[in-house]
Parts: sequence; structure tokens; C-alpha cells
Amino acid sequence: MVLSEDASEAFSKAIREISRRIGGEKVLTDPEDLIPYSIDASKRFEGVPWAVVRVNSTEDVSAVLQVADRERIPVIPRGSASCLTGAVVAKRGGIVIDLLPMHRVEVYPEDLVVMAEAGATVQRVDEECRRHGLMFPPDPASSKVATVGGALAENAGGIRGAKYGVMKNWLLALEVVLPGGRVLRVGEPTLKWRWGPDLTGLFVGSEGWLGVITRAWFKVIPVPERVVRVVGVFPDMESAGRAAADIRASGILPLGLEIMNAETLRAVSRATGIDLPREGAMLIADVDGPREAISRLAKAVAECMRRAGGEVTLSDDPEEMERLYLARKMAYASLTRLYRAVEIEDITVPLSRFPEALRRIDELAKRYGLPLPTFGHAGDGNVHPTICYDPDDEDQVERARRLAEEICDVAIELGGAVSGEHGIGIQKTGALRRELRARGAEYYLDLLREIKRVLDPNNIMNPGNFDL
Ligand SMILES: Cc1cc2nc3c(=O)[nH]c(=O)nc-3n(C[C@H](O)[C@H](O)[C@H](O)COP(=O)(O)OP(=O)(O)OC[C@H]3O[C@@H](n4cnc5c(N)ncnc54)[C@H](O)[C@@H]3O)c2cc1C
Repeated sequence: MVLSEDASEAFSKAIREISRRIGGEKVLTDPEDLIPYSIDASKRFEGVPWAVVRVNSTEDVSAVLQVADRERIPVIPRGSASCLTGAVVAKRGGIVIDLLPMHRVEVYPEDLVVMAEAGATVQRVDEECRRHGLMFPPDPASSKVATVGGALAENAGGIRGAKYGVMKNWLLALEVVLPGGRVLRVGEPTLKWRWGPDLTGLFVGSEGWLGVITRAWFKVIPVPERVVRVVGVFPDMESAGRAAADIRASGILPLGLEIMNAETLRAVSRATGIDLPREGAMLIADVDGPREAISRLAKAVAECMRRAGGEVTLSDDPEEMERLYLARKMAYASLTRLYRAVEIEDITVPLSRFPEALRRIDELAKRYGLPLPTFGHAGDGNVHPTICYDPDDEDQVERARRLAEEICDVAIELGGAVSGEHGIGIQKTGALRRELRARGAEYYLDLLREIKRVLDPNNIMNPGNFDL
């Protein structure tokens, strides 16, 4: 076993003890094995851990947290590291707990409940449910890799979020290992339960900062009978945004309502070869439900799009639908192929302010002179302006930094949030502070610090992340 240079005597002892207790084959300490665990999908933040432990049971996690807490060693829970804010890199070294080997999924069709271990991917949970005619609605664009633990710790949303919300909307119960190794069970796998205040919420969005989620129980729903897709092509983002706000305001709950601007469409076309419009903006609305209701809903959606100036097409051809779904899912990946550095933003505004937010983002792009492909979940008022720049050009780096701040300030001014789903991590701590100040909500951070002291008195959980 080769330990990194940072490893202290206490750390070496701790790692030997962990290896003895859970099996040395689960512990990685060779530098070449640690490098792949040093970044996240943003590629903007870095931190090499001192060791990685590939756990495959709650008992393994408990043993690691017992030893790490005693020896005050940082611990970073890790799913697939698809996060975009630096929340999963080992900023201060320590032990990465890799949860991917814990990926059991059990469906209880008669209860409309699914249990998933933390390392199962979100897509797999949905696939297992579909064998029983059921569906697990959350579907981040990264669902093929994003894990249940990571998606809960980030409260991920996704393409079906317009109708079905985010991870927390489906969560029934949790198993979490706390620093020191205690195993906390919160809630029952029933559609309702009351244990006083609902502490599942403490761990939703907690970004590996309070404990390690080891398994979760979710409610699920029957697969909708039919899905119809309505696609609108608009002269600009503001009019596409107006259509989106109108669809929601008219009481229709589309399954998904996704928006992409021309820069995004061109990048996706180039990266994937999918033929897409080169100008204007595109809105993709899916409506789902019983056969009788769908045509009526699709027509109403198309009408909202036409009123806002869109050219509209309708389809329920699975191949065509898959093609556009893939195009939307590929938005971020396409940009990372085309530009040397990208910083994705994640603002959410009230639905009624969505068109204004899009107009102001367009204005910012022109003012700062940087490519700003923009796409996102219009049905939630959540959009991802993505700043593209040359990391070797100091002027561009500085402009990108200021542009990111201004995008967040647009959200704050319009009564929205600086993060809708990607979380805070390293990227967003300053912006979150500004948002809370603007709302007179600074005490929220004080209270979080108190909670952290109770659950993690030695501050071993993901230190340096979410640094309040
Ligand atoms: C191409 C692309 C598309 C994306 N699309 C979306 C989208 O549509 N919607 C969306 O919300 N996000 C999206 N994301 C962001 C990201 O995929 C999600 O946040 C995802 O849920 C993270 O899951 P993960 O398993 O990769 O977690 P990781 O990145 O490994 O970890 C994320 C955070 O969770 C913590 N964590 C991980 N596992 C656990 C655990 N078991 N217990 C406690 N804490 C844990 C980590 O410490 C870290 O703080 C996208 C990312 C990419 C690269």
C-alpha cells in the first residue's frame, strides 16, 4: 500500500484499521487510483483525496465514519461525481466514500414504493419500476449516471420536473450514517407517516455535509398511458419564455417543458449531428395522461405557443421524441466539447418573471461579449445560462466571473433563487449569501451551522464544501 505524502501517522493507522474491519480490497490509496476521484463534472474544482473506500454495505459506511470521526479525518461521500458545483471534490484531502457498489433496487408494486441503495443510478430505479408498469419520475439529464444518494444530496430536478417536481417530492424514508458511525433511520416506507417534524428534509440538498445517505424509499406512480410532444420554434428566448409562462398560467401541467436558445441548438447539432433550428429558440412540451385527455391538452399547449409567436409541430412518434429528448439531454455535454471552459448557472425565478429573466440574460450576453448558450426547465422557471470562455485569457476569465455574479443577481432581483437544482458547492456560496441577505434570511445560515455542530461536531463531513 502506498500512502500519499499528506498522510499523517494517524491517517495511516486509521486506514489500516478501516482495511482490517471492512476488507483491504475496498480501500484505494495508490496515487494513480486517487486521481480519477479528484474532480467533478464541472472540471473547474479539484482536490485529491488521501484514500478512497468503495463501500458495499451500511456497516462498511458506519465503520469508516467511526474511525474517521475519532481521528478527525475529512470524509466526502461520492456517487458518480456528475455534480457541477465542486461539491464532491476533496478540498481538504481525506477519505472519499465511493457508494457506487451499493446499488440494490427493490420494487414493491402493490405498495407503490421502491427502495434504492445510494449508489443505484436514478435511471436504473426508473427502469426497475417500469418492469412493473410503474415510473420513478425524477430524471435529471444526467440520470444514466447520477446516483440516488447524489441526487438526494443535491435535490436534483429534471426534464419531467414541470409536472413531477424534484427528488424530495418522491422521498418517503431514509437511512443515513452519521459521523461517529450511528445509523439513523428517518420515516417509514408508507405513503404517509408522522414522527413529528420531518427530518428527511435535513438530508435533502445537504451535499454530503451532514451524513452519508445509504438507502432511500420513494413513492412511485403508474406509467402514463400516452405522451404527446408539442414543439415550438420561436424568434427569440423571450417569446419562448412567454409561451412557457402562459402554458403554466393556463393551468396545464406539462410533463416536461424544456427551453433551448439558438447557441445551444447549434452546439447540440454540431456535437450530435441532430438536425435542429439554427436561429431563435425552441420550446419542447410533453403532455402525459389518459388517452382521452391528451389531444385536448396538446392542442391547448400548441395554442399558447402560437399566441407567443411560435411555429408549432405535434408528435407522438417514439423515435422522433427520443431524438429531441437526446438533443436536450446533450446540451451541457455538447458545450463542454466545443469550448475550453464552461461555467453553468442554475437560476430559478417565479414563472411570471421567466420571460423577463430570459430577456435580461440575453442583454448580459451582449454586454459581456461572451458566448452564453442558455437552456433549462422552463416549466419550473429554472434556466442554465452557460458561460463559455478561454481559461488562458485573463480578461475573459474576469468577464466570466462578473457575468456569473450578474446572472445570479438577476434571479435575486426577480424574487428567485441562485440555484434551482445543481446546489451550492464551492461555486455558489457567495451568491447564496447575497440571496439570503436580500431576503433578510441570514439567520438561516446560523441555524444551519448549529445543526451541523449537533450532527457533525468534529466537522469531518465534506469540509470546505458549502462553506458558510
Ligand atoms: C450532463 C449533466 C446534466 C445534468 N443535468 C441535471 C439535471 O437535469 N438536473 C439536476 O438537478 N442536476 C443535473 N446535473 C447535476 C448532477 O448530475 C446532479 O446533481 C446529480 O444528482 C448528482 O449525482 P451524483 O451521483 O453524480 O452525485 P455526486 O456528484 O457524486 O455528489 C453530489 C453531492 O452529493 C453528495 N453525495 C453523493 N452521494 C451521497 C450520499 N450517498 N450521501 C450523502 N451525500 C452524498 C456529494 O458529497 C456531493 O456533495 C447534471 C450534470 C451533468 C454533468
